[in-house]
Amino acid sequence: MRYRSTRGTAPTLGFDDVLLTGLARDGGLYLPESWPQVSAETLRALRGKSYAELATAVMQPFVAGSVIERDFARIVADTYATFDHAAVTPLKQLDADLWLLELFHGPTLAFKDVALQLLGRLFDAVLARRQRRLTIVGATSGDTGSAALEACRDRDNLDIFVLFPKGRTSEVQRRQMTTIAAPNAHAIAVEGSFDDCQDLVKALFADEAFRDEFGLSAVNSINWARIMAQIVYYFAAALALGAPDRRIGFSVPTGNFGNVYAAYAARQMGLPVARLLVASNRNDILARFFEGGEMRIGAVEPSLSPSMDIQVSSNFERLLFDLTGGNGAEVAGLMTAFRRDGTYRLTAQRMAQVVEIFRGFRLDDPATISEIRNTHAATGEILDPHSAVGLGAARALAEPGSATVSLACAHPAKFPDAVEQATGVRPSLPDRLSDLYDRPERMSELPNDLNALRDYVRAHAKGLTVV
Ligand SMILES: *Cc1c(COP(=O)(O)O)cnc(C)c1O
Repeated sequence: MRYRSTRGTAPTLGFDDVLLTGLARDGGLYLPESWPQVSAETLRALRGKSYAELATAVMQPFVAGSVIERDFARIVADTYATFDHAAVTPLKQLDADLWLLELFHGPTLAFKDVALQLLGRLFDAVLARRQRRLTIVGATSGDTGSAALEACRDRDNLDIFVLFPKGRTSEVQRRQMTTIAAPNAHAIAVEGSFDDCQDLVKALFADEAFRDEFGLSAVNSINWARIMAQIVYYFAAALALGAPDRRIGFSVPTGNFGNVYAAYAARQMGLPVARLLVASNRNDILARFFEGGEMRIGAVEPSLSPSMDIQVSSNFERLLFDLTGGNGAEVAGLMTAFRRDGTYRLTAQRMAQVVEIFRGFRLDDPATISEIRNTHAATGEILDPHSAVGLGAARALAEPGSATVSLACAHPAKFPDAVEQATGVRPSLPDRLSDLYDRPERMSELPNDLNALRDYVRAHAKGLTVV
C-alpha cells in the first residue's frame, strides 16, 4: 500500500515510512491511496474470529509491502494478549438498541492502548530491521501520554518525550505518565493548554534539521497507523451485532477526530455503518461546524472530559481531503486560512455530503454528570465522563430503530472525582494499577517555548545510531 499526504506535495510513501514519519513534510497527514474493500461475503466469513485474527485480516492490506508484513499476525497477537478481557473490546447492552463498546481493557485503561500497544511493537520491529533508532515526541491532553509512554517504555530503539498541559489532566492521568520508571521515557509538564503542546510539537517537526538529526517521529493521532488500528474495533462491534446484514451507528466521544475518522474509514472499506455521532463537551467547535458549516476556533475551556478539551481537531483534515475529492492544494489552502483567520467554511454542497454521515452533539458538564447518574441508576453501569458525553449524544440523536454503539473510551477510575460526584460511588482502579498512588512521580516542567523544548530533547535523546 502507498500513502499520500492530504496537502498533496510530499512524496508518497510505503507503510514503514508512514509509520516512522508521522506528519508529512508538507505539513499534511498521510492517507492510503485507496481504501481496501471488504465484501459482504468476507465480512460473513470474519464472524466468530478472535479479535487478533480479525485485526490481522482488516489491517493486512494497509501493511502490504512492509518489512514486517510476514511478522504482522504475530505482532498483532502479542499486542492484544496484553488486554485483560478475552474479547479485547467487549460490548455491553444497555437498552434494546443501545450498546457500550468498552475500549479500556488495555494497560493504561483508555482506548488509546488499542492502537498504541500495536504502534510500539511495530516501531520496534521496523527499526530493528532498519538498524535505526528514533525519537518520539508527542502532545497529549491526558490519555495519549500514558498510553504512548507505556507502549514505548524500555524499547531499545526509541526515546519518547510526551508533553502535557500542566494542571489540566486528572491526577490518575498524570500519575500514569509520571510513574513510568524507564530511562527512555520522559513526561514533560508544559505551562499552557493542550493546543499549545500540540503547536510546540508541530513547530519542532517543522524544524527539518532538528527533525533529521534526532529522527523525530510521532505517535499522536496524526500517525496513520493509529487510525488503522482503531478501524478494527468498528468491524468487531458491527460483526458481533449482525453486520453486514444490519447497519450499525456509532457515537464517538471526540477530541482530535481520530477515533471517529477510523469509523468513517471502516465505512469507506465497506462496513455498513449508519450515522456517526461526533460527541463533544463544552469545547464544541465540531458540533457548531456540523450545524452551520463553519469551522471557527474558540478558546479551550477545561471540562470534566479533559481528553476532549481541544479546539483544533487535527484529523479533520483527513476528512477534508476526501470531501475535496483528494485535492491537496485545496486542503492546504483551507488549513492556511484556518491558521491565519481561525475560520473556514465549507460549501452547502460539501456540507450535504458531511451531514449524510455525521451529526455533531454537545454535552456540557452538568449534562455529563446527569448522564453518568442516570445511566448508573437505570443500568448499574458506571461511565467515565468521556463515555458519558458519547452516550448522551447517542440517546439524543440515534436513528430510531437502528442499533447504536456508544464508545466507552476510558475506565471510570481514571476520573474518580466526576464519577463520585455523579453517583456517590468512587470507582476503584483495576488490579494492574492498584498501587498507582504509591509509586514515585518523576517529571520535568517546561515553559510554552520551542527553544526550551529543543534544548531538553537535545540533552536527553540518544539519537539515531544503534549502539
Ligand atoms: C483521546 C480521547 C478522546 C478523544 O479521541 P480523539 O481520537 O482525539 O477524537 C476521547 N475520550 C478519551 C477517554 C480519550 O482518551
